[in-house]
Amino acid sequence: MARYTEALCRLCRRESEKLFLKGDRCYTDKCAVERRKYPPGQHGQRRKKQSDYATQLREKQKAKEIYNVLEKQFKKYFYMAEKKKGITGSNLLQLLESRLDNVVYRLGFASNRRQARQLILHGHFNVNGKRVNIPSYMVRAGDSISVKEESRQLVPVQENIAKAEHKGLPSWVQRDINNFSGRILNLPAMDDISLPVQEQLIVELYSK
Ligand code: SF4
Repeated sequence: MARYTEALCRLCRRESEKLFLKGDRCYTDKCAVERRKYPPGQHGQRRKKQSDYATQLREKQKAKEIYNVLEKQFKKYFYMAEKKKGITGSNLLQLLESRLDNVVYRLGFASNRRQARQLILHGHFNVNGKRVNIPSYMVRAGDSISVKEESRQLVPVQENIAKAEHKGLPSWVQRDINNFSGRILNLPAMDDISLPVQEQLIVELYSK
């Protein structure tokens, strides 16, 4: 499957905003956005007035980059969100938050969503006691997510667990550090998702 392989910090710089794609580095003064607050490239420092379309497109790109989702899959989430009851923009973010790779990251078992994706692909996680190696797997309220017994000594897992204790946890999940596990209490409401994304602009983009 095609994946974005360019330097991640360039993605943040293109949006002139921190998207927190790298984990710990994002919270240090090594962050590229902290050092250069303008888009990359020869014309990056030029001021440009953005059209409405460009603004909507940038919001969609940001969401895709944050959740590490390709265009085709992102569109699929949008159509699913449209079919669900409620506000399409909120539904879209809830669907993206429900991905297993996002939940593993939110629980603190991975330092960022890309690492979560890798760990899941390599089969290090169980959902309700069964191995799941699909990063896009959609979790449901009540699901239990755990690091497989044999994977608990892996260096990245140990490092993330040690740091997780000092990191905040969203209110819609519960974590049991000693058992390397977590539980989905309920799917996140809009108030539980704090992202630098205006989801309404994405809806406007796709509704054209
Ligand atoms: Fe973005 Fe993190 Fe890189 Fe900063 S360090 S530019 S927030 S990926």
